[in-house]
Order: sequence, then C-alpha cells, then structure tokens
Amino acid sequence: MKKKTLVILTLLSAVSFASFAQTQIIAHRGAWKNTNLPQNSIASWNAAVEQKLWGSEFDVHLTKDDVLVINHDFDFYGSDIATSTYDELLKKEHPNGEKIPTLEEYLKEGLKQDDVKLILELKTNKLGTERTLKAADLAVSTVKKLKAKKAVEYIAFSYDACVHIRELDKKAKIHYLNGDKSPQELKEAKLDGLDYNLSVLKKHPTWIKEAKDLKLKTNVWTVNTEADMIYFLGQNVDYITTDQPELLRTVQDKK
Ligand code: MG
Repeated sequence: MKKKTLVILTLLSAVSFASFAQTQIIAHRGAWKNTNLPQNSIASWNAAVEQKLWGSEFDVHLTKDDVLVINHDFDFYGSDIATSTYDELLKKEHPNGEKIPTLEEYLKEGLKQDDVKLILELKTNKLGTERTLKAADLAVSTVKKLKAKKAVEYIAFSYDACVHIRELDKKAKIHYLNGDKSPQELKEAKLDGLDYNLSVLKKHPTWIKEAKDLKLKTNVWTVNTEADMIYFLGQNVDYITTDQPELLRTVQDKK
C-alpha cells in the first residue's frame, strides 16, 4: 500500500514538473526591467534573444504619415504618435540613444535569429477604427514582404483588427487581448487563442480549460510576482507574458 502511494506521489510530481516546464515565457516589451534598457527598444529585444525566451512582445503604432513604429505609450517622449509624422518622431530618442524603431527595422533585427518569436501587438489607433485597420493592413504586408510570417504572431485589443488580420492571412497566429470574449467566441471567429490579463483569467477560472478543450492557445499578462507565476504555471497555460522573464525562469526551474 505504501509503495503504491509512493508511486502515485512520484507520478504526480512528474506531471507537475512537466506542466510547469511546458509553459513558455514571453518578455513584455523586450527584456528591459532587469537590464535597465528602454522598453520596446532594439536593445531590449536583443536582451530577450540573449535569454533564449520563447518570444518577446512589442507594441506597434501608426504615425500620421503611415509609418509603423514600435513604442508602448501613445506618445514617444511627449510627441503624440498618431498625429505626428515619422520625421517628427525622429527628433526624440530613447535614453540609450536609439531612435524610435520602425516595424521594418524591428523585424529585420528579429529575423537575424530564429529562436525567439516576434509577438506583434497592434495598438488600437486613437483616431478611430479606420486607422487601426490601416495599421493592420500595413503590418501584415510588412511581415509578408520581409518573409517573416513564421516568426511573427499577432495580438491586439481591437477585435476588429484581429478579425481583419485573419481575413488578410488565413494562417497567421492571432490572439485576442481584451478579455471580453469567451473561448467559444474566439474559436468561432477563427482566432488562435486568448491572451488575457491575469485578473480576467482569475475571474473566469474555467476559461483556460475551455480554451484548451477547443484547441486554443492560452496566454496571460502581465505576470510579475512569484505567487502569480506559480498560480498560472499550475493552471498549465501555454504562455506567460512578463516583465520579469529572469524570475519566471527561476520559478519554473525550482519546480
Ligand atoms: Mg503590449
């Protein structure tokens, strides 16, 4: 009897180990926090590559003159992106001396390697849906032009943008961010998965399993504390997006 219990315990711990290790790490805006690099800079992308993470996320905005650029906020050091030209944005720079990267520059840097996925977040344009969809058109055409389709996955808060990207590319991997659609709704829209805030997935504790049963991918953001990392590793999510990739790897390795 004792031996049987021991076997079961050993199996359980092996299962837990396997599931913790299955979750892949995505750096949020590059690996910037512990490296002291600017978010969304080429330098923080390369820091994520050095860590050999599964993926690294970055935010894509459309300028007034239709250039896609990488930055989180709607302004780049005080210059509003949606209503500025690209040349106007070039007057500012990151503290490390980098100019705002274009999507093309960023993808070209990303394509120097093929280990780390480029997780392209298409930002919702504040000037309206038409501009958001224009950004989606340009993003998909840039990815195609650079032959980056296998290296890139798309995420967006705009449901319209997700559906539009699906129309433009039947095989693109697309995950929805906004947290207000059930796994079933995402499946019906032919999206590949959910990429939801941790509070949404805690509020809907059945969604991870429902998504998995529908063969959708599950991703959670932005998971920065050890307690939340352990919680979502235990939920066996496919990906965790974090500002603390180094900590997440440590937590994963401890189990
Ligand atoms: Mg983002």
